[in-house]
Amino acid sequence: MYRPGRIPLSAPHMGGHEKNYVQKALEDNWVTTAGPNLPGFEHDICQHTNARHAVALNSGTAALHLALRVLGVKPGDEVLCSTFTYVATANPILYLGATPVFVESEPDTWNMCPDTLHKAIANRLKLGKRPAAIVLVHLYGMPAKMKELMAVAHEFGIPVVEDAAEALGSRYSGHQVGTFGRLGVFSFNGNKIITTSGGGAIITEDAQLAEHAAFLATQATEPAPYEQHSQMGYNYRMSNVSAGIGRGQMEVLEKRIKQHREIYTFYKNQLGHIEELEFVAEPKACFANRWLTTVLLPEPHTPESIRLALEEENIETRHLWKPMHLQPLFQHHPYEGNNLSGKLFERGLCLPSSSSLTDEDLDKVAKHLKRLLEV
Ligand SMILES: *Cc1c(COP(=O)(O)O)cnc(C)c1O
Repeated sequence: MYRPGRIPLSAPHMGGHEKNYVQKALEDNWVTTAGPNLPGFEHDICQHTNARHAVALNSGTAALHLALRVLGVKPGDEVLCSTFTYVATANPILYLGATPVFVESEPDTWNMCPDTLHKAIANRLKLGKRPAAIVLVHLYGMPAKMKELMAVAHEFGIPVVEDAAEALGSRYSGHQVGTFGRLGVFSFNGNKIITTSGGGAIITEDAQLAEHAAFLATQATEPAPYEQHSQMGYNYRMSNVSAGIGRGQMEVLEKRIKQHREIYTFYKNQLGHIEELEFVAEPKACFANRWLTTVLLPEPHTPESIRLALEEENIETRHLWKPMHLQPLFQHHPYEGNNLSGKLFERGLCLPSSSSLTDEDLDKVAKHLKRLLEV
């Protein structure tokens, strides 16, 4: 919600050239899901991530849905899924009539634990169930332990979808996240590190998967002089107007990542001395875009007490994502783990991380956090 004087958690931040691409789209009447900004934006995504193919879609959720659909996930299948994530990671599994099996995180990156994944697969196989796919997330922009996770996926021959909705530009061992699995997914929702107002994309090395996803995204319309369909499709393509915003945003992506990383460093420097206040450090192989800076609060503080106190100052913060295995929606779904994410949820808070924040804004947040947390 926009309010004057408010310090937002994560607000859209235009680079300046977006309006040129959008204006051109309007002038040339390329305002639907066709036009030059679409291949232009997809090219930019490929350039930045080193992926071979990109398909621009109208949301990250749509991208996840299509990624699982082109992998052949069908009703009755099981799909392994990070429990510590936003609900949009898991909902597409339900859209396909499949069952999510939630997998707990490890403490270093807060992402899917490779050992727990191994155990979950072994347990499902013992029950005679072969998981059809793995959906793993790079939470808050921190890359998951991809070397270990991909080793487990390869051992069992299960395809991986990377939910990199929050992690565009993050790297693991020098490679962009989203490029490790069969498919990677980004979101360009208004609160993400860059935005197209609303949007998403799939990236993949596999030309057939990309082509199939683009086909399904436009109602599976077959080449014919009339509308002909032999598969069930979706209305999931991005518009050429949104893609124009995306092209402008891609010009400033590197700058935004730098700014988000500086915000993390600022909070760490200002608040690092507070006893039992914990930050998430980057493991050696990881380069995080630091979409949101997250902290674990010292007792007896709770995320809700600090959130409400900062709200009084017109500062927006947010709880960590409530894990999927604790959601009423998923209470009857299988889960493997020790509830680490549940414990993080009890202690964690997302701090204002918008790249548009001024030094004064950041000083104000740090000042109030010190006031509230220092004893
Ligand atoms: C934002 C988000 C999505 C969904 O993206 P939308 O573009 O909002 O549909 C999926 N997964 C995660 C982890 C996200 O944060």
